[in-house]
Amino acid sequence: MFEYHQPDARGHFGPVEGPQGRSFYGGTFVAETLIHALAELEAAYAQYRHDPEFVAEFKHELAHFVGRPSPIYHAARLSRELGGAQIHLKREDLNHTGAHKVNNTIGQALLARRMGKPRVIAETGAGQHGVATATICARYGMECVVYMGSEDVKRQSPNVYRMHLLGARVVPVESGSKTLKDALNEALRDWVTNVEDTFYIIGTVAGPHPYPMMVRDFQRVIGDECLVQMPRQIESLGGLAGRQPDAVLACVGGGSNAMGIFYPYIPFEGTRLIGVEAAGQGIASGKHAASLSAGTPGVLHGNRTYLLQDDNGQITETHSISAGLDYPGVGPEHAYLKDIGRAEYVGVTDAEALEAFHRLCRTEGIIPALESAHAVAHAMKMAPTMRPDQHLLVNLSGRGDKDIGTVADLTGAEFYCRPSCRGQTVKQ
Ligand SMILES: *Cc1c(COP(=O)(O)O)cnc(C)c1O
Repeated sequence: MFEYHQPDARGHFGPVEGPQGRSFYGGTFVAETLIHALAELEAAYAQYRHDPEFVAEFKHELAHFVGRPSPIYHAARLSRELGGAQIHLKREDLNHTGAHKVNNTIGQALLARRMGKPRVIAETGAGQHGVATATICARYGMECVVYMGSEDVKRQSPNVYRMHLLGARVVPVESGSKTLKDALNEALRDWVTNVEDTFYIIGTVAGPHPYPMMVRDFQRVIGDECLVQMPRQIESLGGLAGRQPDAVLACVGGGSNAMGIFYPYIPFEGTRLIGVEAAGQGIASGKHAASLSAGTPGVLHGNRTYLLQDDNGQITETHSISAGLDYPGVGPEHAYLKDIGRAEYVGVTDAEALEAFHRLCRTEGIIPALESAHAVAHAMKMAPTMRPDQHLLVNLSGRGDKDIGTVADLTGAEFYCRPSCRGQTVKQ
């Protein structure tokens, strides 16, 4: 029996016996100049998190603007072809703006409004968090600045244009590997300078306390809905009443869609929790983003967690086919879940994710985000080893519209018109 602890007042998850002895994850490792802003945020969140008016407005927005609850879909054809467990998809891809990110941005934007902060900043990798933030800022009439690595600006250009259309300013970040980690650094820098009028909406369960806890709380709606939906779904397929799935799977970048679906399932010990990281070109190649599977504890972006770092504590370059998973850290609560053994973390390669992407398109008529395709790929590995009366629940964190250019480039597609082709399809 594991013992589960909420983070304490300092935002510490743990204590745990980790690879470096007795320690904790999370915390607040930031410059002096941010301490006041974080204390102010913590106080505001403590005030509003259970405030009936705040909760009602959050729920109203999720229902009427996002379209919640999102359905759970039984991937019957895929399950039959694989010949084992039943695969079910939690359809976060059907949310307005196309991914789970919007749940959290609404929560934080409502908080920003109550705190009287008219300017919002955000970091983004794949662009989904940037789009979700720009969307909410348009809806609430707030100024929005989004930091994005210049490498990601290139590979996710449709999302960059979406942010422009929504009235946000996108700032390309040229430092470091020009990806998500560098965008986060730049956003933190902006926040230090403009802390008076600016709210920083972090897009995942990382960053200094209270972000990991707060983002988890805003995303737990995913798992809370599943707790109600899954028993009905299993019963409708002839299973025992009240049964929850044998395993819940989710891809892990920073870890917010995974925490959102895992968190309500933590007390259900009959349900395995499996986080799927980006193994890129294989863990052995060094070109991956699997912080929990291949990293060691250290401090990044204001919290202590598992990181991809060298012997001197320098963050190493990461690689993934999907920009949303291309991050050298992971939310501290996942580090905690790993060390206490409540969740398992595995890797899926670029090639496996790409195969799962195509398979889901062809068998179910669903184009998944490349991030989500990692979770689907692992379910495809597990299902044939299980019985048909067992159930896998996969968080389909987003839709793949943003990724079709990447997939076309990788597979040499004949029909896809790239920005450079000026109205003609290019045959490769
Ligand atoms: C951003 C993103 C992810 C990765 O972020 P998490 O915080 O790990 O959830 C996964 N899937 C999609 C569709 C995303 O946009």
